[in-house]
Amino acid sequence: MKLALLSAAAALVLTCAAGLTVAHAASDTAPPAAVEQTDLTRAPRMGPWGFDLAGMNRSVKPGDDFFQFAGGTYVDKLVIPADRTGWGSFNALRELSDTRGRAVIERAAATANATGEAAQIGALYNSFMDEARVESLDAAPMAADLAAIKAATSREALAGLMGSSQGRFGSGFFGAYIGQDAKDPTRYAVYLGQSGLGLPDRDYYLDPKFAEKKTAYRAYVARMLTMAGWANPDKAADAIVALETRIAEVSWTKVEQRDADKTYNPFTTAELTALAPAFPWQAYLKGASLSGAERVIVGEPTAFVKIAAIFAATPVETLRAWSAFHVADQAAPYLSKHFVDANFDFRGKTLNGQPEQRARWKRAVALVGGSLGEAVGKLYVAAYFPPESKAKMEKLVADLRVALKGRIERLDWMSPETKARAQAKLASLNVKIGYPDKWRDYGALSLTAGDLYGNVVRAGQFDWAWQVGKLNGPVDRQEWGMTPQTVNAYYDATMNEIVFPAAILQPPFFDPDADPAVNYGGIGAVIGHEISHGFDDEGRKFDADGTLRDWWQPQDASKFEVQAARLGALYSSFEVLPGAKVNGELTMGENIGDLGGIHIALDAYRLSLGGGPAPIIDGLTGDQRFFLAFAQIWRSKYRDDTLRQQVVSDPHSPAYFRVVGTVRNVDAWYDAFGVKPGDAMYVKPEDRVRIW
Ligand SMILES: [Zn+2]
Repeated sequence: MKLALLSAAAALVLTCAAGLTVAHAASDTAPPAAVEQTDLTRAPRMGPWGFDLAGMNRSVKPGDDFFQFAGGTYVDKLVIPADRTGWGSFNALRELSDTRGRAVIERAAATANATGEAAQIGALYNSFMDEARVESLDAAPMAADLAAIKAATSREALAGLMGSSQGRFGSGFFGAYIGQDAKDPTRYAVYLGQSGLGLPDRDYYLDPKFAEKKTAYRAYVARMLTMAGWANPDKAADAIVALETRIAEVSWTKVEQRDADKTYNPFTTAELTALAPAFPWQAYLKGASLSGAERVIVGEPTAFVKIAAIFAATPVETLRAWSAFHVADQAAPYLSKHFVDANFDFRGKTLNGQPEQRARWKRAVALVGGSLGEAVGKLYVAAYFPPESKAKMEKLVADLRVALKGRIERLDWMSPETKARAQAKLASLNVKIGYPDKWRDYGALSLTAGDLYGNVVRAGQFDWAWQVGKLNGPVDRQEWGMTPQTVNAYYDATMNEIVFPAAILQPPFFDPDADPAVNYGGIGAVIGHEISHGFDDEGRKFDADGTLRDWWQPQDASKFEVQAARLGALYSSFEVLPGAKVNGELTMGENIGDLGGIHIALDAYRLSLGGGPAPIIDGLTGDQRFFLAFAQIWRSKYRDDTLRQQVVSDPHSPAYFRVVGTVRNVDAWYDAFGVKPGDAMYVKPEDRVRIW
């Protein structure tokens, strides 16, 4: 179980159910001038000491709207580039990471007589960039996959194809992944989860708010099937959307899926067949190269029973059309222009409000960065990651550990027994910074310059075979779940570790030469956020060894839940857009992470001063600079459709609320800015949520 600082969906690359890394559809528009970066060696400093003073809006009282006060001038002027769903601090850094990725990839691609990883990078990148070749092939590359679907006349054969879509284009009513067994994290297990939907969440099928998107989806399904040469595309599209609506009705909500206890249901494969006999499990597992698996962990057992019954009740002809559509939908970004455009029109424009496709090179960088992630990462780190950043980060993390240790000792609501176990969990927390010590070996992956479709499929299959291969061995504790060039961070509950890729260790998060208050408020709050995931409403269920096991005294757990529910109620009151509110339950873990993170980071900052006063800089106290830096990392603006999608499908609250929802619960913020009763964000001391 991995929890990221922000969702991958906000990033360039999304990992689809099939395990393939699929670039967001996009086109050949030039990158906006605002994001051109000529000096790739360092991310731009934010103001003279690490904070952008000119971006503040001092006409707003900090206690009325701290997000506006800290960065309103910057945000108000900000224009979202046409090829983006949002823009801000994170995105600007991601753009830099992409530009650097392009530089190292093109260098590798231009190497004469390249061998090994340079040759693989070149072949994959060039296969994407060779638009003339892709255009001339049109739909031909997926013909064999569609023919296999047409030839599948039995339910067993179709279930087999659903299984084999792991690591290929296509989808299944169920998805598989390999992860550490939550109740025995020393070994890997096969996890199975509900799947089968082509829209971002079940709400898109069931909530009248999304009726227009659903209508547009039906038209998109018909368009894709027409382009794929499928018979009766309109009739098939009606049947497919009706089928997915039935699946949506019986699927668990994203809130239910967050529950680590309820989603841990181990079954033998015989028991799985007995649970949901309407689905040919053996055929599915064989297709997924998992026929040897004797035991699986099922995420949503009650949904499995019903989805299996839907499978049995759906005509074979509809199942075939459904499979064909999902192949075409996922393959579209790697086919000729009319497929790329149709895919972007729906997934980019209609679902996210993004006006223009991303430039082809950016999509190529996303593909190579996803499929050969650590090969690119190795080059990225060598070119752009200063080794001294790692040492400074280690010091910061050590400070934050000391700070949280002190906070746990001082908690007034927790018993000594639970405190001792919480301290043990903190003490055994592992930290990874920058890049892996051991790089992944891509040697067996065959990539060819003229075969984009085949390359993406082979890369997906290579990755899936690697995942399945883990089942035979011990848990690899050196493995990373993100590449070094990723601007993000995560906590992994079964590893009990926090991970910070090289690309996030830059301004505005981290700047070795900035005022320390800025680093504690920026990357310090991010480190604190990740550590706090180990102690949020789900992370707290995992012990020091990463085992899902209740280590809490019941009265402590109750007190924790009362505070968590209060935080949830606060976030549920936040309206993002008319009719669209934050879901306090869905975002619970992330909000607890933000609140814990800022407390730990602030304590660590104060400890770093060694009892002395913080200097005043530009008239600002140390605490003021700390909170301003925290707000600075979240300066951003998103398109309305993206925000509407985020609140139903993303466990992270929108950036604005990550600032204003967090600081209002921190006493020191009131002191730092003189926030008083009557100010819009004011909360009475006894009503502030206090957890860690
Ligand atoms: Zn998080």
